[in-house]
Amino acid sequence: MPTVTTDRRPSDGPRRLATPGDLRRWSERCRAAGLSVGLVPTMGALHAGHRSLVRRACVDCDRVVVSIFVNPRQFAPGDDLDRYPRSLDADLDMLADEAVDAVFLPTVEAMYGPAPATSVCVDPSLTGILEGIHRPGHFDGVALVVAKLLIACRPHRAYFGQKDAQQCAVVRRLAADLDTGVEIVTTPVVRDRDGLALSSRNAYLSRAERSRALAIPAGISAAATAFAAGEHRSQVLRNLVRAPMEAAGFDIDYVVAVDAESLATVEDVRLGCQILVAGRMGTTRLIDVIRLGIDAAPLGGAGPQGSEIPGVTGSQGSE
Ligand code: AMP
Repeated sequence: MPTVTTDRRPSDGPRRLATPGDLRRWSERCRAAGLSVGLVPTMGALHAGHRSLVRRACVDCDRVVVSIFVNPRQFAPGDDLDRYPRSLDADLDMLADEAVDAVFLPTVEAMYGPAPATSVCVDPSLTGILEGIHRPGHFDGVALVVAKLLIACRPHRAYFGQKDAQQCAVVRRLAADLDTGVEIVTTPVVRDRDGLALSSRNAYLSRAERSRALAIPAGISAAATAFAAGEHRSQVLRNLVRAPMEAAGFDIDYVVAVDAESLATVEDVRLGCQILVAGRMGTTRLIDVIRLGIDAAPLGGAGPQGSEIPGVTGSQGSE
């Protein structure tokens, strides 16, 4: 059995764990030593959005493991699995800088073996809508890999970005329904200076496409500003998002206003409801989200009204 220690801040970078068994043994040692464990699942190509999850986990937990695994099961046919960006050396440098304790780097074989026969399905009311329509099978892949990570790691907390709002809702249900005992922590969207939400997929955008993609933060800023001024009609808010996206040439998949937990669409938009956006700029599919009355408008213009929700302090707040 490989030696697994629980030392914090290893001088030679995060400890590398290769198999679910390695992850389990590392985590068991931490727990046995009375240390809390945080898990940050990622697909690598790390950026400041991932860094924000890692930093939050390092504040909350005694030990932090980041998984880097481009999960083939969450890519639908025709998705970008083959060209998904990979930058392991830079990722490991970032995680060493952040003093992450361990990094889980499984191969597809180590994760799934030759012929896995088990699936994990979260109810279609959460998974068969929005991303589930445009990326068939996506959430079955997400649910399977997250369940496997939670079982192998048994973290006290697992960290997910609000940017993937539907994923957050699906993972919260999965973690609760399977009695994992894991606290699911979600953190706000991190944006570039120009307002575009950071994404590994932004690397696909040409210069001109990237500039046109700013229609998304412009649109959700307009909606946030209108909401702050008292506009609660979903259709009006959605049109404020759609108009600049259409003008910029986006092929829009959806612009919806939803309840954050159930993801049910709402006509009368209330504090904490979310506007979810997805569209294609050229060959690059982008998603974004704003929590109305909580997140600051990406381009300014509307301050958060977070005081009505205890503990929420604006776009850098958390749930
Ligand atoms: P990914 O590597 O794309 O699977 O993302 C790993 C985690 O980072 C997910 O929980 C994402 O929601 C989160 N994440 C990705 N982009 C951002 C961002 N711009 N701000 C905050 N979290 C993000």
